[in-house]
Amino acid sequence: DVKNGMLLYVEGVSVSFDGFKAINDLNLYIKEGELRCIIGPNGAGKTTMMDIITGKTRPDVGDVWLGQQLNLLKMDEAEIANAGIGRKFQKPTVFEALSVWENLELAMAGEKSTWHLFRAVLSGEQKCDIERVLELIGLETQSRMLAGKLSHGQKQWLEIGMLLMQKPKLLLVDEPVAGMTHQEMDRTAELLLSLAGEHSIMVVEHDMDFVRSIASTVTVLHQGHVLAEGSMKSIQDDQRVREVYLGQ
Ligand code: ADP
Repeated sequence: DVKNGMLLYVEGVSVSFDGFKAINDLNLYIKEGELRCIIGPNGAGKTTMMDIITGKTRPDVGDVWLGQQLNLLKMDEAEIANAGIGRKFQKPTVFEALSVWENLELAMAGEKSTWHLFRAVLSGEQKCDIERVLELIGLETQSRMLAGKLSHGQKQWLEIGMLLMQKPKLLLVDEPVAGMTHQEMDRTAELLLSLAGEHSIMVVEHDMDFVRSIASTVTVLHQGHVLAEGSMKSIQDDQRVREVYLGQ
């Protein structure tokens, strides 16, 4: 049974927009603690796939489960987020007028309206959680800095930190290194590798050097379907992948 031991189980999923099959019989299985890269040309269905997993788009057919218990197709977006799926979009959406620490507090509180109440009764344990995340994302010394003053890379890490405050089981990360310097990319690879194990992570990324540097299993999407899956090396040697994606 494939579902056994899988954190995310996507099987036989299709969705059409005005008769066009954006996702076509997609099967995807993510193990507990796995770091998976998703690549594929523009229009391959990567965004739509993430939209289906997070409940933003409903498939026409198929199954989507988180663990053995949670049928995600019976849950709405908020329920899916609460069940432990965190998504980071390409553009960072940190609160620029708040400090790094305050951004993490806010993420822990869940919403801005309850944040002031929440921070007044922050427990020692919760403070420890924030400190631990600050260390993970490498922003301890920027803790009191306004998020608006951070570099582009630091904002991306802060946003990953904000997702971590919700203790997600699965993190969906969209093009994390777009616009980053080489140094920031290396740091991002380290960060994602350090998070894998405790979390399952799906990274959609176009930068092949970055994908290579995190050297995980790579899934190639093409026309809404899995074209190939395996190590970076097996993907690069795959003639079908070269034809549709690498253009060689
Ligand atoms: P990717 O993220 O891999 O670039 P997308 O998931 O954004 O691919 O898109 C897959 C295909 O589905 C594209 O051809 C896109 O134009 C189409 N598509 C996505 N969302 C919609 C929508 N809401 N309505 C119509 N077509 C859509």
